[in-house]
Amino acid sequence: MSLIDVTRPDARSSRPSAGDHEQVDVLGIGFGPSNMALAVALDELPDGERPTAVFLERQPTSAWHRHMLFEDASMQVAFAKDLVTFRNPQSRFSFLQYLVDHDRIADFFNRGSMLPLRTEFSAYLQWAAAQLDDYVRYDSTVVGIEPLEDDGVVTGFRVDAEVRGVRQQYVARDVVLAAGLQPQLPAGAEPGPRVWHTAEFLARVAELPAEGVTELAVVGGGQSAAEAVLYLHAAYPGATIHCVHSGYGYVTSDMTPYANRIFDPSAVDDYFFAPAENRRELFERHHTTNYSAVNPNTIDRIFDADYADRCAGRQRLVWHKASRLTELRADRDGVDLGISSLLTGGDVSVRVDAVVCGTGYRALDPSTLVAGHERLLVRDEDGRPLANRDYSAVLAPESRARLFLVGQTNHTHGISSTLLSNVAVRAGELADTIREAATVRTGGAG
Ligand SMILES: Cc1cc2nc3c(=O)[nH]c(=O)nc-3n(C[C@H](O)[C@H](O)[C@H](O)COP(=O)(O)OP(=O)(O)OC[C@H]3O[C@@H](n4cnc5c(N)ncnc54)[C@H](O)[C@@H]3O)c2cc1C
Repeated sequence: MSLIDVTRPDARSSRPSAGDHEQVDVLGIGFGPSNMALAVALDELPDGERPTAVFLERQPTSAWHRHMLFEDASMQVAFAKDLVTFRNPQSRFSFLQYLVDHDRIADFFNRGSMLPLRTEFSAYLQWAAAQLDDYVRYDSTVVGIEPLEDDGVVTGFRVDAEVRGVRQQYVARDVVLAAGLQPQLPAGAEPGPRVWHTAEFLARVAELPAEGVTELAVVGGGQSAAEAVLYLHAAYPGATIHCVHSGYGYVTSDMTPYANRIFDPSAVDDYFFAPAENRRELFERHHTTNYSAVNPNTIDRIFDADYADRCAGRQRLVWHKASRLTELRADRDGVDLGISSLLTGGDVSVRVDAVVCGTGYRALDPSTLVAGHERLLVRDEDGRPLANRDYSAVLAPESRARLFLVGQTNHTHGISSTLLSNVAVRAGELADTIREAATVRTGGAG
């Protein structure tokens, strides 16, 4: 039996009866921008060609990087790199439509910037998510993906989710894993009330006492770390902030137009079909378009704050440049840090009330979800799962089903993989791949 009926008019699946699994054509894991864009692209397929689709999201509501929503933070991409515009500028899910609905389109352009506020982009995503409510199940954490095999051929996947302590099962022919990146802490660091990744920033900082905080530390030299420094400097006027990073100072993110072309939809083909060693070199060369780099405006603001402190005869930002953490030991009241300078070889110890780790993110290895089926995924020489151009994982057994890896393919599809720049076009490609395969399988005209 085919898992898909492309002639079915309604794209949403029917709910299962108790104890049953729910069968859908497409099961999305995560409902961040990547899978939201896919939901829209599927929704915009012609009537009769829409597969059934359900997206599982572990958060209770739609929330994009909610602990980094500083009121004054700007997006790093133009408004048109929203969920749809590069694929379908007439879509009702565009950022411009959101502005029209909120009576702000004139002032958005009067501002003279193509970059929305981060809070504004988050509100746009919530507005879009509300219109896609029928596709998504919140509070649903995917805990396992099991390949279903028939005579050695993978024909589908069973996906297990935890919904407020209750296990639910789904069966799908195509699974789209778009669970985002995983926060990365320094080696040996355990997250807790005194040690946080920037991914938890606003929630954790709210738990710090308003008074009595005198020493804080921020580790890292990228955008999130820099924003954390600015925030803490303003929020804790009585505190010294130790800024630990491996470089000599913040490096600006390259936002110049030729470098920006690395994010173009056409760059995905350039990157994917280039020899592996050239891909690596290209990635390194254009690393600072996104990684370990800071918006020049943020750098200027930090420098101004630092300079104003010095004019007032104090030093609140302490720069541990070209340095690395050698020790991080937290107890109930604070954290002991060991910091080693790569310039002098000297070590310093500081005791802080809390340490914020702006130490980046790493790709989610799908093996964490397909535990017990490691042989399923074909990997490159560095152990990373390989993906085809259509983002489906290269699977070892013969397969009529696909596990799409979305947002984890920097090594095969280039630097835009984890970003917003290409979500709209990528979602369109995914929707077409899903639809075309369904048409072939059912022998329909499509
Ligand atoms: C503070 C910050 C600012 C950023 N700003 C920009 C920017 O301006 N421009 C840009 O291009 N990029 C930016 N990025 C990069 C960011 O990765 C993308 O903006 C975008 O969030 C990627 O979308 P995604 O859907 O792939 O991943 P995510 O947005 O991370 O979404 C993944 C979703 O999957 C859910 N999930 C995870 N695991 C499970 C599970 N097991 N079961 C169910 N659900 C699960 C998560 O809760 C999450 O909602 C920023 C990143 C950060 C941290």
